[in-house]
Amino acid sequence: MQNGIERVAAAVVPDAEQVPPGTFRLLAEDAGSQARAGLLQTAHGAIETPVFMPVGTQGTVKTLEPRDLHELQVQILLGNTYHLLLRPGAEIISTCGGLHRFMGWDGPILTDSGGFQVFSLAKLRRIRENGVEFNSHIDGARCFLGPVESMAMQRVLGSDIAMTFDECIPYPATPEYACQSVAKTLRWAVLCAEQARAPGQLVFGIVQGGEYSDLRVRCAAELVAIGFDGYAIGGVSVGEPEPVLLRGVEDSVVHLPRERPRYLMGVGDLVQIVEAVARGVDMFDCVIPTRHARNGSAFTRAGRVPIKAGAYKQDTRPVEEGCDCYCCRNFTRAYVRHLLNVGEILGVRLLTIHNIHRYMDFMQELRRALRQGVFSEFRREAWARLRSARPQE
Ligand SMILES: [Zn+2]
Repeated sequence: MQNGIERVAAAVVPDAEQVPPGTFRLLAEDAGSQARAGLLQTAHGAIETPVFMPVGTQGTVKTLEPRDLHELQVQILLGNTYHLLLRPGAEIISTCGGLHRFMGWDGPILTDSGGFQVFSLAKLRRIRENGVEFNSHIDGARCFLGPVESMAMQRVLGSDIAMTFDECIPYPATPEYACQSVAKTLRWAVLCAEQARAPGQLVFGIVQGGEYSDLRVRCAAELVAIGFDGYAIGGVSVGEPEPVLLRGVEDSVVHLPRERPRYLMGVGDLVQIVEAVARGVDMFDCVIPTRHARNGSAFTRAGRVPIKAGAYKQDTRPVEEGCDCYCCRNFTRAYVRHLLNVGEILGVRLLTIHNIHRYMDFMQELRRALRQGVFSEFRREAWARLRSARPQE
């Protein structure tokens, strides 16, 4: 009966077809924090929030098929505009009818703007007034991406949620740099808001400002004045200490409208997810569960388990006892460890299934706690369990 409450909530919207994309209904609000549970309608279905979005950088969540994602109850994926623009390019995806058809996924997709990758991956960048000139990290080809180009590419991709093109301020940055960068991000946000969209496509604005409270507050207020379907908090998880990250969330959320979804970009640590939810955040994405699977690391209720370690050589238990994912129902740690150690791709696939299941399960428990009015207990318990299990990083 684990899904009973979720189904009841989904039934709150009687006919999803008739609900316009962008409709966001708050189903529960926590009395002791700013946490809330909601339902966001997109052109490809409704999403229960708070939600975690697995990352499908190259048009796939590495090693998983769309049917796996459905089975794992993944509600929405993230796609990367920068990577898809470089390979295979707009023309091929357009010929194939957009990203949903290209990758065979009929659920909601959010695409980032490519801004973060241009600033973190591309070589020899030159920031212009209307965007960024850069060399592709793959073949060095000279490219240009700005608000106009990014929105055009996201229109071709046909994502359900497109993100505005912004500059992710590095940490640390001087107040002068941060101030000029926020002004540019806001000018770009205006341009993004003016561009044509794919049918039913929502556009989210991104709050920047680095570690500076006044800049985040100003950026949030100005984005709201432009008016977006939702708002994201960007420029976090870029090397800053956790208290700075959480303060950045608080400073950004304070001026965002209660009735619009809020998305914290790139944060996937479960403790940080719970703390951001308590501060009013609804959506998350991160490569952590998939990347760690490729490194042979399993997320469990008791913390991370390095399945490749010699200690699990003859371990006949599942990756996580009590887990009902396909990996844990059918295979032993000894087998998964063997696959990983001989470089068989099935090992990575099984661990990815387990890790995504763990994340989906955690978010479902979190949503249930919110609907049952016991979020503070959930938060306390998550802290006690996950903090102690956290590796020292
Ligand atoms: Zn499992």
